[in-house]
Amino acid sequence: MLEDEIHGNLYQKLPITLEKGLGSHVWDVDGNEYIDCMGAYGVAITGYRNQRVNNAIKNQIDKIISVHSSFYNKTRENFLETILKIAPKNLSNVYLGNSGTEAVEAAIKFARKYTGKKGMIAMKGSYHGRTMGSLSLTFNPKYKKSFEPMVENIQFSEFGNMDNLESKINTDTGFIILEPIQGESGIYPSPDGFLQQVRKLCDEKNIVLIFDEVQCGLGRTGKMWACENWNVVPDILCTSKGLAGGIPFSATLTKPEILASMEIGEQSSTLSGNPLACAASTATLTALTDDGLIDNAAKIGLLLWSGLEKLKNKHKIIREIRGKGLMIAIEFEVDARELVLRAIEQHVIFLFSIYSDKNIVRLLPPLVLTENDVSEILRVLDEIISNEENIQKN
Ligand code: PMP
Repeated sequence: MLEDEIHGNLYQKLPITLEKGLGSHVWDVDGNEYIDCMGAYGVAITGYRNQRVNNAIKNQIDKIISVHSSFYNKTRENFLETILKIAPKNLSNVYLGNSGTEAVEAAIKFARKYTGKKGMIAMKGSYHGRTMGSLSLTFNPKYKKSFEPMVENIQFSEFGNMDNLESKINTDTGFIILEPIQGESGIYPSPDGFLQQVRKLCDEKNIVLIFDEVQCGLGRTGKMWACENWNVVPDILCTSKGLAGGIPFSATLTKPEILASMEIGEQSSTLSGNPLACAASTATLTALTDDGLIDNAAKIGLLLWSGLEKLKNKHKIIREIRGKGLMIAIEFEVDARELVLRAIEQHVIFLFSIYSDKNIVRLLPPLVLTENDVSEILRVLDEIISNEENIQKN
């Protein structure tokens, strides 16, 4: 394939050429239809070809798509008003970027400028991106080993372990960053009580608390923000992936005093806040709030969860089911790559990464997933797992 020759071998490829999508389904160039539980790595939250988002993009294209942030723009203003309506309490300032890693990079700089402190704490199992700052905060040594030295002054604490976290804190600790539900390492929700205790610790020690909701935010868990599941608000929240319905976009939401500590010229990005992404994002956020997508994620998530639990009771090779809403991991006793390939033959696409745990299959489907989709997903899983168990027996 030409992509293999020219696009490098940076991405693990699945053997399908996708051409179009609708709702929670995608089609390949030969017209085969698939239920998409990968959801473009969690980007396709509103479903493919969402009419609100498509219309907003088309309307904006006919006006203007490039307005640098050194000018005012009504589409941007409209977007900022919309995101503020759903932003966690007190996070009323917003920096815009184009990807998850940029949202995190901005958060690092803002927290450092605001506190004047250099020490950073991230969690074991974390994933925050691939640029040098966010990569440094990412735990998996496989992602980092060829690119050292990393940014200095970072310590990794055990996710969910307060004693360990407290032992890492010193007078130079500027921020703690964590994903309320760890995504790339295999979907691990924060243990109950952990986020509240981290919040308390940060308040006591004047440490900025950053939540990376790039994967777990925007309705995926059945709440707008994953941190709402534990009623904890950070000082900075990073969001991206599906924020603009598939157009590259990110937002770093901050308390006003944090962004106010930055001066003109200390942070910028040429495409930041471009009206195309802003228009798409306003439509995406409206779809989440007004079209019932978040409620659907909660409802369909529960349905899927209960079906998966039944499969777990039936099949010994399922070790564990984890997650919330439509952010779910199935951990197997065996390498899951073959299972994922066999599911594709049965027209269901799952998320599987050779870089993280090979026993884990993830589901980050569009939030418009239907009951029929769930029945079919469970049927296919049941069948391929039964086949795998038969192979193992023989
Ligand atoms: N943070 C988290 C929690 C993520 O899951 C990801 C992407 N998987 C990123 C940051 C980086 O986002 P991007 O790939 O858009 O740079």
